[in-house]
Amino acid sequence: MKSEIEKVAGWIITSKRTVVFTGAGLSTESGIPDFRSPGGVWDRYNPEDFYFQNFISSQASREKYWQMATEMYDPIKQAQPNPAHLAIAEMERMEKLDCVITQNIDGLHHKAGNSPEKIIELHGTAMHVTCLSCHKRYNRDGVQEKIKQGIKAPSCEDCGGPLKPATISFGQAMPERETQEAYRRSSLCNLFIVIGSSLIVQPAASMPGVAKRSGARLVIINRDPTPFDDVADIVIHGQAGPTMKDILEKLSEQLEKSGMGR
Ligand code: NAD
Repeated sequence: MKSEIEKVAGWIITSKRTVVFTGAGLSTESGIPDFRSPGGVWDRYNPEDFYFQNFISSQASREKYWQMATEMYDPIKQAQPNPAHLAIAEMERMEKLDCVITQNIDGLHHKAGNSPEKIIELHGTAMHVTCLSCHKRYNRDGVQEKIKQGIKAPSCEDCGGPLKPATISFGQAMPERETQEAYRRSSLCNLFIVIGSSLIVQPAASMPGVAKRSGARLVIINRDPTPFDDVADIVIHGQAGPTMKDILEKLSEQLEKSGMGR
């Protein structure tokens, strides 16, 4: 009997449109903690300190937010893609990837080599900063320099508005274009592969359901169970890196055998 890994590789080969959907669990092997696992972000910080409403309500809240965001930025900046990110980039090179929809803000799909037009960042990115008033965009490193110089909550050099990392906080509106595009791609795909997400945070977590109801096969690769395990076609409870490395190996083998390999 074919292993689950072989089956997933076979489905990737026959699927016309494969969407990969990633969460914080994809990047834990790159040294970035997720939110909900032991030792994760919620063990060290109070989620309320990340609410958008608090950020806009007072200078003191903005200073606290920037202090936490600065602590979290260093490991993100240092992190390197792990075998799971690299396998997803390889799927693109093999022309076996429609897009990657990510909840991650760490920029590791870009670092791994996926092209920007293939990456839909649902929750924004920590690599940039935006002005909440005039929407001017800044490179994150430049703003972090100002923090190092003692500015506790930086403001826009053009309009004086509050600057915030270009990530989507709880209570902040989702980016319209990315969200619509993610729903559209989810509804059109034949194969939807979730990697490293608890599938709890909405609206991102509704996308596997959209894909499944539109007729796609659903594969979930996650260390812990998710609310979608019952409806998935294959569930692999394992580590993202080794699992994706194995799938990529089988994929390459099967492509070679079928004469489609390069
Ligand atoms: P989550 O913290 O809710 O869930 C992570 C899931 O990944 C868990 O179910 C866990 O079992 C699994 N997991 C952890 N390590 C794994 C591994 N090595 N292999 C396979 N599975 C693994 O994360 P989420 O579902 O992405 O949602 C929470 C929010 O966290 C998102 O909105 C995201 O923006 C944000 N976030 C992002 C990052 C990042 O950019 N790297 C880090 C922390 C949180």
